[in-house]
Amino acid sequence: MLILVVNCGSSTVKYQLFDMQDPEQGRVIAKGIVERIGLPGSRLEHYYDEKSVIREREVNNHKVALEWILEVLTDPQIGVIQNVKEIEAVGHRVVHGGEKFRESVLIDDKVIEAVREYVQLAPLHNPPNILGIEACRSVLPDVPQVAVFDTAFHATMPPHAYTYAIPYEYYEKYRIRRYGFHGTSHRYVAERTAKILRRDLSSLKLITCHMGSGVSFAAIKNGESIDTSMGFTPLEGLIMGTRCGDIDPAIVLFLMEKEGLSIKEMDEILNKKSGVLGVSGISSDTRDIEDAAPSNPRAQLTLDLIAYRAKKYIGAYYAVLGGLDALVFTAGIGENSSYIRKSICEGLEHLGITIDEAKNTVRRKEAVISQDGAPVKVMVVPTNEELMIARDTWRLVAQKR
Ligand code: AMP
Repeated sequence: MLILVVNCGSSTVKYQLFDMQDPEQGRVIAKGIVERIGLPGSRLEHYYDEKSVIREREVNNHKVALEWILEVLTDPQIGVIQNVKEIEAVGHRVVHGGEKFRESVLIDDKVIEAVREYVQLAPLHNPPNILGIEACRSVLPDVPQVAVFDTAFHATMPPHAYTYAIPYEYYEKYRIRRYGFHGTSHRYVAERTAKILRRDLSSLKLITCHMGSGVSFAAIKNGESIDTSMGFTPLEGLIMGTRCGDIDPAIVLFLMEKEGLSIKEMDEILNKKSGVLGVSGISSDTRDIEDAAPSNPRAQLTLDLIAYRAKKYIGAYYAVLGGLDALVFTAGIGENSSYIRKSICEGLEHLGITIDEAKNTVRRKEAVISQDGAPVKVMVVPTNEELMIARDTWRLVAQKR
């Protein structure tokens, strides 16, 4: 079965075509991205058979982007299939599933309506996701579509973990609560961890650390997310590339008053100008910060902040889990940065968390990097959200047959 996985942003469509003959592993037969949709200089980058091509063309909207993707996938030279009819299902990444979606679902009009309702909770993300779904329904009208939500995995959080201590009426009126994000990644990593350790996920206590340009940690008990660091939006929690993570909310009021900032300007500061970029003043990319740190105190301070905040979350999640079997690093930083992994784990030996320096040199590969015999396994598990989306899509579509 061939499944197209689609991830739509405001000006991008990322795609991966999976052969799901082995649904556990999946096999990517082509992938790519259309960028700058609705902007000058739209382009498509397509990878197939270990080759890649870049094409340029005007792309005014997501429907045109998807038509182009299907054209490329069926192109006699650079395509990988002969006919779009070979695509048997489409899986979509959808960022916000609100309180309604606790798992992936087959898309129908009602699902689209509900995702549209949650636009108020994810004004930047859900609209392009809906555009992508509508575009696919229009270019592949007879093909089943599945929505896989970033929030769904965290739907198991108990009320004491997701309720904010603001007047309860705002939860009732606006559904202001913690939702959590990166759920598909945390779920994938948790399942892989159990497989690697040859343990049953339903008997494990895990902290999964998704550290990319966005950063979130999750406390996973017996296969269920019981807490996670992102909240009502992906702004809460750890220090990220350009997002501030946890701050005293009074800072927002203070700054808006002192600097005469509009809501939009304040939002820009918290989401785009803070985090690693804001503190270092150098870059949002931790590689640049690691390079600069030996001679730049603010770069070193940024790395220290990343590690310190991470330690605090690990301590908190250790407490709420009542112990820990594995601490798992994933995404751009988690999979690559030996320095950041080490600086996070240093000083946590009293929790049974250790790092083996030689094993910690690993990059982008599944590995156990704790010292032999340590009570807590520290691991690197590269994430694969697209495979998870393909698997859910396969499961839901195959089930319907
Ligand atoms: P992601 O959002 O998962 O694609 O991760 C992107 C981020 O990972 C980048 O902004 C970098 O900060 C970080 N990153 C990627 N490769 C490395 C590396 N080799 N060392 C340190 N950080 C890295």
